[in-house]
Amino acid sequence: MKTAFYPGSFDPLTNGHLDVLMQALATADRLVVGIGIHPGKTPLFTFEERADLIRQSLSTTGETSDGQVEVVPFDGLVVDAARANGASLLLRGLRDGTDLDYEMQMAGMNRQMAPDIQTVFLPAATSSRPITATLVRQIAAMGGDVSAFVPEVVLTALRHRFS
Ligand code: ADP
Repeated sequence: MKTAFYPGSFDPLTNGHLDVLMQALATADRLVVGIGIHPGKTPLFTFEERADLIRQSLSTTGETSDGQVEVVPFDGLVVDAARANGASLLLRGLRDGTDLDYEMQMAGMNRQMAPDIQTVFLPAATSSRPITATLVRQIAAMGGDVSAFVPEVVLTALRHRFS
């Protein structure tokens, strides 16, 4: 049984993240989504809110079975969090060459630190390539329409947050 760990901020979940999650479900038997907690950084949504948005968005797709996906918080090294959650695969989404340059460095160093954990890159869908959670937050904060970039439940949560 292959367990994959998909780390990120997910503040909030976007259609880009969701696309990677759907690809991940086709790759691994069990998927653990790790929400990074950074002391000193105030996120837009709390861990619980971000976790709920991920669970609700996934259930709307109807593509997951019970217990296949778990959402956990983590701090510290990603490879330690992957190991602690029994994962042998570390998933990262790739949007462009800038992501690739950075991700290759991280994958290389993670491999030296944890040879038992294999990084797997998943390419962004054409439609979700430009989406970043940072821009989604900024556009929503200024009253812009982000309905093309996030799942319905996230759109509702953003509207409440900025109403
Ligand atoms: P962001 O970079 O949008 O703030 P995160 O830090 O939460 O998002 O990223 C978590 C993971 O999701 C990373 O591997 C990142 O490359 C990937 N990712 C983020 N947005 C997209 C997207 N639009 N398409 C594919 N992968 C993405």
